[in-house]
Amino acid sequence: PESGTAGQPEKHNLPAVEKKLGIALVGLGTYSSEELGPALTETAYCRLVGVVSGNEAKRRKWKAQYNLRDENLYSYDNFDDIRSNRDIDIVYVVLPNSMHAEFVIRSARAGKHVICEKPMATSIEDCHRMIDVCKEAGVKLSIGYRLHFDPFNQEVMRLGQNKIFGSINQVIAKHGMDVGDKNQWRLKQTLAGGGPLMDVGIYCVQGVMYAVGELPAAVNARFHTVTDPEKFSEVEEGMDWEMEFTSGMKAICETSYSRPADQLRAEAANGWFELQPAYAYTGLKGKTTDERMTINSINQQAAQMDDFALCIQNQSETRVPGEMGLRDLQILLAIYESARTKRKVDLQLQNFKDLIGI
Ligand code: NAD
Repeated sequence: PESGTAGQPEKHNLPAVEKKLGIALVGLGTYSSEELGPALTETAYCRLVGVVSGNEAKRRKWKAQYNLRDENLYSYDNFDDIRSNRDIDIVYVVLPNSMHAEFVIRSARAGKHVICEKPMATSIEDCHRMIDVCKEAGVKLSIGYRLHFDPFNQEVMRLGQNKIFGSINQVIAKHGMDVGDKNQWRLKQTLAGGGPLMDVGIYCVQGVMYAVGELPAAVNARFHTVTDPEKFSEVEEGMDWEMEFTSGMKAICETSYSRPADQLRAEAANGWFELQPAYAYTGLKGKTTDERMTINSINQQAAQMDDFALCIQNQSETRVPGEMGLRDLQILLAIYESARTKRKVDLQLQNFKDLIGI
């Protein structure tokens, strides 16, 4: 149904636009194949026009499936030629975590706006370079934080940040999964930058902050005892941590690559509210002291990419910018430091207090 002109949105109730912005996906693994590619058939303001992959068979498969032009298929080697490609407005980097920096920087230098998957990078230096190069190049940078566009998580932001149930005393956030195959990049420190905390625990860190609308002042963490030393020889199997806030609020968090969990719960002076599952792509469920949340789910990734395309068209700020990715990596690294040193680690996040989504 994609024509590139006059898109008539079906799934969102959005006005049609003259021309959808063109997106190229870099890295055609599971997330691109199962979520982003399909979501880009539902977007109103952007559409899939190209792919970047080291594997020629994959490029051909995507070309056939999404009706892509030959000129819009790139390998990692000739990727910089994307500069002269007028079909492509946005590059979406969906590679292993430690590769994000290189491809975000190459995309920005080629004059393209960029969406970078979470976690933004594996070092603070990389985050700064990514932000700086995008600024110098005059392109926008956003992080693939899809839940900021999900109506269930937006309801948590509304209830918490507006203190609908009064001041929050405690938040509980848990996200874990069975990671599967022991040979994958997620279990390699150099490619992943860490274990479940970097991959899925990041959603707990985010969820706590947007539920309370505040930034943490300190973290305190412990590694789980390892049950499979062969599989978890480089990255942690799981962690428990607390986040402390100057208001006195405390968050109790857990992440794991062997224990499935998916919860965000806030306990406030006059009641509680909760999502469970909270971070999944579909099937989210919400409850409060009073009632079950009746919310229609949407395609999170389509909403996220459409919002970025609109920010470009309207020259407005994305609510999930590179600075938010940098902020979150600082918190993740402080959690690791606390677990390693067995000490509470203080955070200095004043520079990030104006981020829209918290
Ligand atoms: P994946 O392993 O399924 O895909 C990774 C892709 O990178 C593969 O196509 C692989 O061929 C390619 N690749 C290139 N160089 C590689 C190398 N040296 N080692 C391994 N793979 C290499 O991973 P994924 O689940 O698609 O995750 C990709 C990124 O997307 C990660 O940063 C992850 O955190 C993020 N992600 C985000 C969400 C979300 O909900 N926002 C969900 C899943 C993944």
